[in-house]
Amino acid sequence: MAILKHADAAPANDTAAAAMSSPRLALDAEEFRRQGRLVYPVRPAVTPGFLSRQLPDTAPEEPDVADLAAALRDVRDLILPGVTHWQSPRHFAHFSATASNVGALGEALAAGLNINPFTWAASPAATELEVVVTDWLGKALHLPENLLFSGGGGGTLLGTSCEAMLCTIVAARDRKLAEIGEDRIGDLVVYCSDQTHFSFQKAARIAGIRKGNYREIPTSWETGFTLSPQALLAAVRADEAAGRVPLYLCATVGTTPTAAVDPVGELCAALTGRDVWVHVDAAYAGAACICPEFRNALINLEAVDSVSTNPHKWLLANMDCCALWVRRPDALVAALGTDHDVILKDPTASEMAVVDYKDWQVALSRRFRALKLWLVLRCHGVEGLRGFVRGHVRMAAAFEAMVRADPRFEVPVPRSFALVCFRLQHTTNEVNKSLLEAVNATGRAYMSCAVVGGVYMLRCAIGNSLTEDRHVHEAWKIVQQQATAILLLQLDDDAEANTHCCATDVVDAKLQDPAANSLLPLGHHHEVVVPI
Ligand code: PLP
Repeated sequence: MAILKHADAAPANDTAAAAMSSPRLALDAEEFRRQGRLVYPVRPAVTPGFLSRQLPDTAPEEPDVADLAAALRDVRDLILPGVTHWQSPRHFAHFSATASNVGALGEALAAGLNINPFTWAASPAATELEVVVTDWLGKALHLPENLLFSGGGGGTLLGTSCEAMLCTIVAARDRKLAEIGEDRIGDLVVYCSDQTHFSFQKAARIAGIRKGNYREIPTSWETGFTLSPQALLAAVRADEAAGRVPLYLCATVGTTPTAAVDPVGELCAALTGRDVWVHVDAAYAGAACICPEFRNALINLEAVDSVSTNPHKWLLANMDCCALWVRRPDALVAALGTDHDVILKDPTASEMAVVDYKDWQVALSRRFRALKLWLVLRCHGVEGLRGFVRGHVRMAAAFEAMVRADPRFEVPVPRSFALVCFRLQHTTNEVNKSLLEAVNATGRAYMSCAVVGGVYMLRCAIGNSLTEDRHVHEAWKIVQQQATAILLLQLDDDAEANTHCCATDVVDAKLQDPAANSLLPLGHHHEVVVPI
């Protein structure tokens, strides 16, 4: 809207004005849909530099509103073909970035308003909406009262989980150093498991934690790759014995590789009597706790200091949106607050207890994220969001059942929420890696991988707003098809290497297996790549 107004105000010439209003030049919805459906693979088959080679080295010197149409054509012809389509119903990689109409509308409204609510005074409604909406979401997730404004804690909306970790480590650090002296920063130790997201390591490094004081506690098959309270306690005691100072634990509810859930209550119990800040990273799986049946994942949080989850992952709030709740907002403000900024001070606000969100985050400026989250909660309702999450979990269970029904595959770790980890059994990590590459090369499904306990697994994370049963079934067929082709290729190689064995016998025997054979591409079985 702002661009159009600008163009109307100062058109370069009549042609430019005509170009701006010509529907033929717009990226019209029908064309967009046609191209999206017919042309774009989920993950583009492009090589590095593909776009920069097609664009000029420098920005245009002169403004040229007439070029908006040409620019939009570039979006269609150059940029969209190189985008990984996270909103494709066939996107099963990583964890989804869910989208909704109201989420997008909230983003659009925020972009149009373009406000900067760094203090209450800088935009009272934006700040107060954030206070309200973080309490709403916290209540919907059944967080303990002490993490909500209504219970003395409070929430904020940041961009990412990494920011949530960084802000809370810094709060914990400053609180601890105020007690033991700033010169002991080198003694502070932080704890997590080997399944914790790498962004925690980044946050710890930025917060000044020595590399050697980052404890990544190993997990195992026995504990389902969750952090063992006993192992945590042993590590903490060893550090204390060596004169170091345990500072912060990052527990995860829904780890990135397998969506494992650390036993938060037991971890807190193991740390009882020690002043260790406990943060719960529930970036993905926090959303599921909106459903009573998954609430177990986020229980016994009374003793935790902070929790974060990303509504942009699984709660229909378009990118970006990370909700962080803290039990002691004053600790955040003490570490991140600034009060010598006379210009920002509002005399009315200073006399009252208002939230200045600039003091809860790294930067001064911030986005109006509350609007989209409020719209999502208001329009979908908590029950609507439960239905959304449950739909994905049901589809993931169906996918899991299909994997288990094919004897060539295994599900090495239990399905957690809507994430299914699976692999071809009795074969190598390399073969499974080839399978993932082959599946993704079809352009009809996009999955990712995890390596846990030394085992390579494919990850099918169902969570896209547009994904339906048929997409899940199709994805599984693609996996089976590619697996068949790869296994047959492998048999050929094995047979060639084994002079005592007739290759065609082996292949023929394999072809008798209906599960392996049913989806074999027509033609020569060396044909691995399935055309889109
Ligand atoms: N924590 C977990 C468990 C995640 O899965 C992810 C990303 O997927 C992150 C943290 C990092 O999230 P962000 O990109 O919001 O920093």
